[in-house]
Amino acid sequence: MSAPKVILVTGANKGIGYAIVRNLALKYSATSNSQPLTIILTARDQNRGQTSLNELENELKPKKILKHDGGIIDLKFIQLDLLDENSIKKTEETISKDCNGLDILINNAGMAFKGDSFDINVVRTTFATNFYGTLNVSNHLFPLIRPNGRLINISSGVGRLSIISNKWKKEFSKEDLDIDGLIELMKKYENAVEKGTYQNEGWPQQGNFSYSYGMSKLGLTVMTNIFARRADKEGKGVLVFSCCPGWVRTDMAGPNAVKSPDQGAETPVFLAVNDDVVPKAP
Ligand code: NDP
Repeated sequence: MSAPKVILVTGANKGIGYAIVRNLALKYSATSNSQPLTIILTARDQNRGQTSLNELENELKPKKILKHDGGIIDLKFIQLDLLDENSIKKTEETISKDCNGLDILINNAGMAFKGDSFDINVVRTTFATNFYGTLNVSNHLFPLIRPNGRLINISSGVGRLSIISNKWKKEFSKEDLDIDGLIELMKKYENAVEKGTYQNEGWPQQGNFSYSYGMSKLGLTVMTNIFARRADKEGKGVLVFSCCPGWVRTDMAGPNAVKSPDQGAETPVFLAVNDDVVPKAP
C-alpha cells in the first residue's frame, strides 16, 4: 500500500477505546513489515484526549515504536464529539486533507446510564450517542475508507435480538432494511416508551436489565448489517463488523466486570490487524 495505513478510534481517551489504541500500537509494531501506521485517538474533550495521548506516548517511548523515536507508529489526536456535527465535519475534513483517507474506523464511543430505565429522556440521550451519533460519524467517515479497509463497531451482547418479540425480530432482520427503515423502527420504540405502551408492543420488558442501552446497541448491530450490505454493493473489499468486547472493567461497567480493558480490546484489535478475519474460499 502506498499511503500509510490510518486507523481512527472514537471515544479513546479512556476505557476500551484507549486500550484499543494502545494494543493496536503494540501489536502492529510487533508483527508488521515496517509499513507505517497512523493511529488517531479521538475524544470529545480536548484536554482529556490530549492527556491520554501524552500518557500513552510516555508509556510507549522506551519501546521506540513511535515515529518520533524512530519507529513506525504515528499517534495523533483529533477532537471528535459524536453529538457535535461541527466536530464530525472537521474530523472528516482533517482525515481527507491530512491523511487522504482512512483504512479502519473503529466506532467505540458510547454511553450508558447507571440504572437504565423506561424514562423517555434516558432513551433519547442513550440513542443520541450510541445510535444516531455513531450513525452520523459513519455517514461522514465510511466514504473515506479506502479499498480493503474496515469498519468495526463496538456493540454489545446486551443488544441481542432476543430482547424483543418475534414481530420486531422479523422487522429488524429484514434483508432489505435500510437506514431510514431502521430509524423508523428505533422511533417506534421511543414512541412506545413515551406513550407507556412498550410492554404490550413486544419491546424489552421490565426485568431485562438494560432496556434503552440494549435497544441502542441492537440498533447499532443492525446498522452494521446495513453498512455491510452497502460495502458489498460498492465492491471495494471493505469489511464491516460489529463485536461485543465482553464485560469489561471500565467507568461504564464498573469494577466488578470480569475483563480488563486490555482483554476487552482483544476482539476489536484482532478484527483490525488480522488478515484472517473472514474465511478464505477453499
Ligand atoms: P467508558 O465509559 O470507559 O468510555 C466511553 C468512551 O466513550 C469515553 O472515552 C467517553 O468520553 C466516550 N464518549 C461518550 N460519549 C461520547 C460522545 N458524545 N462523543 C465522543 N465520545 C464519547 O466505556 P467503555 O470503555 O466500557 O465502553 C466503550 C464501548 O464498549 C462503548 O460503546 C460501550 O457501549 C461498549 N461496551 C462496553 C462494555 C463493558 O463491559 N465495558 C460491554 C459491551 C459494550 P468521555 O471520557 O468524555 O466521557
